[in-house]
Amino acid sequence: MTHKTRQPNPMRRFSFPAANVWLTALLGFALCGIAARGAEPIRALLVAGGCCHDYQAQKKILTEGISARANVTWTIVHEGGDTREYMVSIYKQPDWARGYDVVVHDECFGFVTNVAFVEQITQAHSNGVPAVLLHCSTHSYRMSTTDEWRKLLGVSSYQHEKLRSFQVVNLKPEHPIMQGFPAKWDDTDDELYEIKKLWPNCVPLGKGVSVEKTEHVCIWANTYGKARVFGTSLGHRNETVQDPVYLDLVTRGLLWTCNKLDDNGKPKPGYGSK
Ligand SMILES: [Zn+2]
Repeated sequence: MTHKTRQPNPMRRFSFPAANVWLTALLGFALCGIAARGAEPIRALLVAGGCCHDYQAQKKILTEGISARANVTWTIVHEGGDTREYMVSIYKQPDWARGYDVVVHDECFGFVTNVAFVEQITQAHSNGVPAVLLHCSTHSYRMSTTDEWRKLLGVSSYQHEKLRSFQVVNLKPEHPIMQGFPAKWDDTDDELYEIKKLWPNCVPLGKGVSVEKTEHVCIWANTYGKARVFGTSLGHRNETVQDPVYLDLVTRGLLWTCNKLDDNGKPKPGYGSK
């Protein structure tokens, strides 16, 4: 009778069950990493400044109001005093939007005409950085000969009706951005921007109706190059900007541009308020 001494097999150290445990652990770490990345805040850049509005207050109202509703962190560039001709410094840098998930334009520089400058702004969005355009950004760069800013907006507008109250009508209550927006909303003392043209990709979401029954689209969604765009011409006074209806709307618009809004108009998991 022979006895075989059972020698430990060095390969057993890497036997299937052990490897499976390690594989499971690695997979777990990987999934945790993906989940953590998914919950990282949206990095937003707010550009504010220029003529005719209280940007000192509105930049605070907007950033605090949106971050109370969604997982968003902010970099704020507020320049230009109350001028109409100022060229915001960050736009002069090539690839100026690198590192941001979305840019919120709340500037009012209607008399800047430099085509190369304007097209450097729009190029970043054409390359895929989402944009939110608020109130006077609709009239910024309107004197420039290039159409790129207007294509980014999705609308062409050159003037507005006088400051007064008007009614805003929800045109697409089924759209995620407009879910939760009233069927009709009374906007107290605001400016109804006169829309001369809707560009082909523009989807009207809301219209303003004046007491004389003039009507203009005042809330819309757009696509520009690779980017989603949300725009509203509403928001002249602080009272409008700080209205929960307005802040809810802009928050949904911002999340939608980043593809972080679900079909029911709610933030996707990880992108609600923290
Ligand atoms: Zn205004």
